[in-house]
Amino acid sequence: MEKGENSAGYPWGHNRRFNAFPDYFRRTFGERVQKVSIDAGFTCPNRDGSKGTGGCTYCNNKAFNPSYCLPEKAIRTQIEEGILFHKKRYRRVDSYIAYFQAYSNTYASIETLEKLYSEALGHKDIKGIIIGTRPDCVDGEKLDFLREVSKRVYLAIEYGIESCYNRTLRRINRGHTFEDAVKALEGTASRGLNTGAHFIFGLPGETRREMLAEAEIISGLPLNTVKFHQLQIIKGTAMEDEFRMNPSDFELFTWEEYLDFIISFLERLTPGIVVERFTGEAPPRYLTKEVWGKKRTDQIVSLIEKRLEELDTWQGKKYER
Ligand code: SF4
Repeated sequence: MEKGENSAGYPWGHNRRFNAFPDYFRRTFGERVQKVSIDAGFTCPNRDGSKGTGGCTYCNNKAFNPSYCLPEKAIRTQIEEGILFHKKRYRRVDSYIAYFQAYSNTYASIETLEKLYSEALGHKDIKGIIIGTRPDCVDGEKLDFLREVSKRVYLAIEYGIESCYNRTLRRINRGHTFEDAVKALEGTASRGLNTGAHFIFGLPGETRREMLAEAEIISGLPLNTVKFHQLQIIKGTAMEDEFRMNPSDFELFTWEEYLDFIISFLERLTPGIVVERFTGEAPPRYLTKEVWGKKRTDQIVSLIEKRLEELDTWQGKKYER
């Protein structure tokens, strides 16, 4: 992709060297909007026995849930506490999106989903919802219902896909295939709903070359936004046991390696997909192995942007349609 497609130089309409999420939210809502996480008490078919009981080998939901997010608390209370939490950090924000984050947030009857989502949307400061779920937890009926909701408010569905390779998905016990993910994304996008996806880099058994090749595969998916995470070995997971038994099976990225990798990946990713995250940030007390030292997410984004600048490169520079 050449620069110069508009006055800002990039097709996403601003001067940052990647299609950044905060700007996407600003374009969509015309103001700064912050997400508030909710744990609505869902479970997951990969844990409750309908698909499996052990869950994905890397999963410990506690490591990713903000402290104000507890399923015992009413959704309204979680929203109020989340807003207070964010007000301290981002004073200029007045509107929020409810992010149904923990476990699989479409894994219930439509009646239950309607009740839970309505509770969040009934809050005066909530402008929409983002629903995190698994590709095998949606069907035509649920997507039709979500399409109706999306006629009134902003709605996005964020799928955990994690890898484009079925070999890896089997190894991490995801309980679904990449084809399931493509089907869910196509069903979601064809109804005009916003789509997001989550991928992990560094999963056991994948080479760096295979991970880089995912840029082309992901570029071909009907996605609005993506989140990328480096693999972290979280305490209390099946992966922790695997890692302790066979550490040589894991090639965890050092920060310098990941920086090089993510730049190459971004260059190959379509400019049309908004990038929401480059890394995951589990609290250090959950980590089996601390590999990057103390780097905050905002510092990481700055370092990536600095490197893009130094190399005079950008998202999609090497993307070929
Ligand atoms: S990562 Fe998601 S899908 Fe996998 S076990 Fe955990 S909650 Fe379930």
